[in-house]
Amino acid sequence: MSAPWRGADRAPVIDLADDHADVREPVRALCARYPAAYWRDKDRARTYPTEFVAALSEAGFLASLIPQEYGGSGLGLDAAVAILEEIHGSGCNGAACHAQMYTMATLLNHGSAAQKAAYLPAIAKGTLRLQAFGVTEPTTGSDTTQLKTTARRVGDHYRINGQKVWISRVEHSDLMLLLARTTPADQVRKRSGGLSVFLVDLRTAVGNGLTVRPIRTMINHATTELFFDDLAVPAANLIGVEGEGFGYILDSMNAERILIAAECIGDARWFIARASDYARTRSVFGRPIGANQGIQFPIARAYAATAAAALVVRQAAALFDAGMPCGEQANLAKLLAADASWQAADMCVQTHGGFGFAEEYDIERKFRETRLYQIAPVSTNLILAYIGQHVLDLPRSY
Ligand SMILES: Cc1cc2nc3c(=O)[nH]c(=O)nc-3n(C[C@H](O)[C@H](O)[C@H](O)COP(=O)(O)OP(=O)(O)OC[C@H]3O[C@@H](n4cnc5c(N)ncnc54)[C@H](O)[C@@H]3O)c2cc1C
Repeated sequence: MSAPWRGADRAPVIDLADDHADVREPVRALCARYPAAYWRDKDRARTYPTEFVAALSEAGFLASLIPQEYGGSGLGLDAAVAILEEIHGSGCNGAACHAQMYTMATLLNHGSAAQKAAYLPAIAKGTLRLQAFGVTEPTTGSDTTQLKTTARRVGDHYRINGQKVWISRVEHSDLMLLLARTTPADQVRKRSGGLSVFLVDLRTAVGNGLTVRPIRTMINHATTELFFDDLAVPAANLIGVEGEGFGYILDSMNAERILIAAECIGDARWFIARASDYARTRSVFGRPIGANQGIQFPIARAYAATAAAALVVRQAAALFDAGMPCGEQANLAKLLAADASWQAADMCVQTHGGFGFAEEYDIERKFRETRLYQIAPVSTNLILAYIGQHVLDLPRSY
């Protein structure tokens, strides 16, 4: 019998003493300038938090993963985890800008020296935005390796045709990392072969082969549908080797899962803090509702689940930063953190009774926002299937 605990064996020691206080404090101070009313207004109007993203960019937080030689701070994913935990723990939302952190893994690890020199300094300065990640398609969904958008080489360009859906922040980004098919699915040796990654310059693409249609959703997320009609992308914008793109994107997907998990931890902490405050002060039947175990214990359970998930998030980030395989931990982190934030959200609404539904309490908004993480960027079922098939060697279900 083989032991399934492979991840634990190879985990580097997490430096729990270094909680990135130097990053957390300034992020909290910045977030204090964008209080709940700011987010409530943006949510109501479904508008992009431009001012918040500009402030984060100006303070250098969105360039935290860019190496110092290109003008960034050269920090690890562990520091980015701290940044996003604080943004969400403060009641703000990093969804408007988090992609710049996870798309970076593909560019840093697989981009050429010329591509890095061309893009990274401007991204670090905040004059160029890499906020869009184009993977999901309407007809293939979670079955990413079967995506149908094609990129065909014609001279010194690729011609892109097809459709994407749920591609967020396209209207607020200058560049998009795009995954497209360069070899037909029936001609590849392995399912994940024949896909390639491109850096699409949205400033010239929109209106010249790329049509962007916004999708109004349950949350304020600036997400869109994309239609490619013979869009020309210079061959120089291909990242790495043609056909190897899925492997490159996995780096970004692992980073994305860890960073989204960090946002979930921040959300969970926000819900727990709000619920605890309310349970201490709301008095019904002559005593604080928090004195009732029916209210107190769900808060305690949410706290315990969040504390455990937070450690796995840090373990995953430590593996990522050490350049070690981290697929298992990235998936575990996302699963546990998304479950913890959803548990905390539900508990927070219940603790607030009817006031949990009131817009001015912000709980219903955060409840809607954190619900996303059971679906995107990867659904809970697909993570469970990953653990079943890739960690526990159980039979494949697809
Ligand atoms: C607001 C928002 C923003 C997004 N932003 C981006 C973005 O910027 N870029 C991008 O590329 N994508 C983005 N996405 C897409 C997101 O990653 C997908 O929605 C997600 O991966 C699920 O794919 P799907 O919606 O096609 O669901 P489907 O794949 O159709 O799945 C539907 C349901 O069936 C379940 N299911 C499917 N197959 C199986 C199976 N084999 N076993 C068990 N259950 C299964 C899933 O878990 C899910 O619950 C975004 C989505 C949303 C809602």
